[in-house]
Amino acid sequence: MDVANQIKTISEELNRLNITLVAVSKTKPLDTIQEAYDAGQRIFGENIVQDLVAKYDALPKDIQWHLIGHLQTNKVKYIAPFVALIHSVDSLKLLKEINKQGAKNNRVIDCLLQVHVAAEDTKFGLDHVELIELLRSEELTGLEHVRIRGLMGIATNTPNEREIKAEFSELKSLFDGVKASFFRKTDHFDTLSMGMSADYKLAIEHGCTMVRLGSTLFGNR
Ligand SMILES: *Cc1c(COP(=O)(O)O)cnc(C)c1O
Repeated sequence: MDVANQIKTISEELNRLNITLVAVSKTKPLDTIQEAYDAGQRIFGENIVQDLVAKYDALPKDIQWHLIGHLQTNKVKYIAPFVALIHSVDSLKLLKEINKQGAKNNRVIDCLLQVHVAAEDTKFGLDHVELIELLRSEELTGLEHVRIRGLMGIATNTPNEREIKAEFSELKSLFDGVKASFFRKTDHFDTLSMGMSADYKLAIEHGCTMVRLGSTLFGNR
């Protein structure tokens, strides 16, 4: 896999559409990430806290590190000093801990709420009711060290395009609805993270603003 070439080709395509590319570097060694960095990529995503921290320590400091995998409350403290965006917030409890660690580090931490749309019930995320409950919660307004930037979702891993399209379409409607109902007066609710290597073209058709690509950029894991 020619990583530099893939990064350049795909980021050009996405730039034209105003879509942010998160290069998912999980399981990839430092030199591969450095290669992508040298090709101009600055946003990388990891799904495991320990790996995120190790790679943050070893690589250039102008990289924006995104956490895309499930986050346990007791691990927030390790990433709070530097993480640029947490895609996987799925409870008020977690949000409160991120807020607490944000305060300790004197920063506001950007977060996405992960919504469960896939058919598999092993996937993490809030269902619609839980999402609305969280957004309506009175405690939310007191959390000054987190900023909810949007939603994240993972479609079902299936060759059935109709199913994937239905899920992306559901996510987009939810995003628009939540924006109109809860974030009318702000302009920072602007991120819809959906689409991975197998389905990002469909995600683009359905209005994502951010895609998370691993194998398309770096080869199979
Ligand atoms: C691994 C992963 C990706 C990237 O997957 P690819 O199929 O390699 O593009 C995107 N999002 C999440 C949450 C992931 O865990």
